[in-house]
Amino acid sequence: MNSELTFCNMPLDRASHLRKNQQWLSDKISADSSCFYFFYQNKLLYLDKSLFSFSKAQYQGEAELLSLIERAEFNLIFLGLEQDKGHFVYDLSALNDDEINRWLAKLFHCLCCNDAKFIDFRHSISMLSQEQAAILGYAKALIHWQQSAVFCGTCGTETQSLDGGHRRQCLNSECQVEQFPRTDPAVIMLVEYQPKHGPALCLLAEHHRISGQVYSTLAGFVDPGESLVEAVHREVLEEVGIETKQITHFGSQPWPFPNSLMLGFFAQATDMEITLEEEELRSAAWFTAEQLQNFGEWGDETDGKKLPRKESISRRLIDTWCAKQLG
Ligand SMILES: [Zn+2]
Repeated sequence: MNSELTFCNMPLDRASHLRKNQQWLSDKISADSSCFYFFYQNKLLYLDKSLFSFSKAQYQGEAELLSLIERAEFNLIFLGLEQDKGHFVYDLSALNDDEINRWLAKLFHCLCCNDAKFIDFRHSISMLSQEQAAILGYAKALIHWQQSAVFCGTCGTETQSLDGGHRRQCLNSECQVEQFPRTDPAVIMLVEYQPKHGPALCLLAEHHRISGQVYSTLAGFVDPGESLVEAVHREVLEEVGIETKQITHFGSQPWPFPNSLMLGFFAQATDMEITLEEEELRSAAWFTAEQLQNFGEWGDETDGKKLPRKESISRRLIDTWCAKQLG
C-alpha cells in the first residue's frame, strides 16, 4: 500500500558505495548528463511552474549560466543515480536576500525567462510527479541535516562535508568525530472503537499547530528506549487518556518536515472516554466513516471540518479505514 504514498519509492540508486570515492564523485559532478536541483531556505526552484533542473547537456555552451551555477560556496549534495546519470542538489541558503535576488536576476537573463522562482517545498508538492517528490523530499531532509551538523556536537569545532554530503567529520584533529544523516521515528495511529451496537468509530483530533478545523490521527515521536508499540500506547494515553490494544502496523512514510519517518498503525481503543491533553490538541472526537465522507479537503477555504492533506499517511490511514467500513 506504500506504492502511492508521497515521498516513498525514491527512484534513484543511492550508490552509497560509490559516493565514498572522491574521484568518482568529481567525474559525476562534471559529467554533461548529471542534473542539479536548487533549494533555497526550504524553497525549491521552479521555472515556468515546472521543477527546474540544470544539466550541461541541456544547456550546452552556456558559459555564463555554467559559471553562475558552479560556485564553490554553494553546498552540493549527491543524491543518487538514474542509470548512469547523477542527480545532485545545490543548497543556496547561505546567500542573503539581496544575493539570492541578484542570482535569480542573472538566471532570468541566462535563460531568457522571467518566471523562475523559489517556491516553498511543502506548498509545491502537488506541482511534482511522484518520483520528483520522493527525490526532492530526500534532498530536503539531507539539506536540513547538513545545516544542523555544521559544528561538532562533541567539541564545537566546524565539520566538513564528505561522501557527497552523506557524512560530516569534525575538523579538530584531536576529535575527528563523524556525524551521519539522522531520521527521527514518529508513530502515527488511527484509534478505532467498535461499540456493541452500531458502526465502528475512529478518533481524530485538531492539533493547535494546524489551523482551520483539520481533523487528523494522533501522532508523536518515539522516545529513547521505547518500542513502536509502546510508543503508540503511550502517545494515545497521553493525548486522549485512552488505553489501546491490538496495535497493528500499517506502513511507513518518510516526511521531510524536517526529517521524520512516520510509522503508521491501527489501534483498538478499550473505551471511548476522552481526556484531552490541551497543550497539544484543540479538540478530539469520535466519527463514523459516514460522517467523514462529509468532511472538506485540507486547504480549501470553506468553513467546517476537514480531512488532512492527501499526501500524508494520516489521510491514508483514514481513507483505508473508511473504505473498510463502507466496503
Ligand atoms: Zn569535534
